[in-house]
Amino acid sequence: MKCYMHNDLDVIVQCHGCGKGLCKECADRFEAILCEQCLLSNNVSAKSSAKKSLIIAGVLFILGFNFGLSSSFMAAVIWGYILAGVPLGWKAVNKITPNFILILPIMGWVIFFVYKFVVSAAIGIFMTPFHIKRMINEIKISKTTNEQVAAGKM
Ligand SMILES: [Zn+2]
Ligand SMILES: [Zn+2]
Repeated sequence: MKCYMHNDLDVIVQCHGCGKGLCKECADRFEAILCEQCLLSNNVSAKSSAKKSLIIAGVLFILGFNFGLSSSFMAAVIWGYILAGVPLGWKAVNKITPNFILILPIMGWVIFFVYKFVVSAAIGIFMTPFHIKRMINEIKISKTTNEQVAAGKM
């Protein structure tokens, strides 16, 4: 079998995205074993999910900010920050929570929900700075790779 790009070179590995045959040269082009199209489409989805999570954090920050503003500016910033981190913490909690809530009575659900919200907020406080940095990085990386691929430099 010959490479999808170079019909004189033998395939050494298959693209992890679509299974197309890649020669050594193509396989070495990117860090992940992907053909150009798969890399680009991976970038698009990584970038859009990074953007989405930044937007959600931003909206929650504004909500928390407005909520806290009735007491003081400082409280507004803190509330904004705490709320912005809740989705992150929520996801982390989901990973470690078993599905036992399904058998709880309604009151149990409410208590569990409040409890989960508080734990999520607490975890989010620590995760937010790293997460935002990572999301921005991801957007940057996908931008540079796209440019490099377009310029044929990689
Ligand atoms: Zn592919
Ligand atoms: Zn090739």
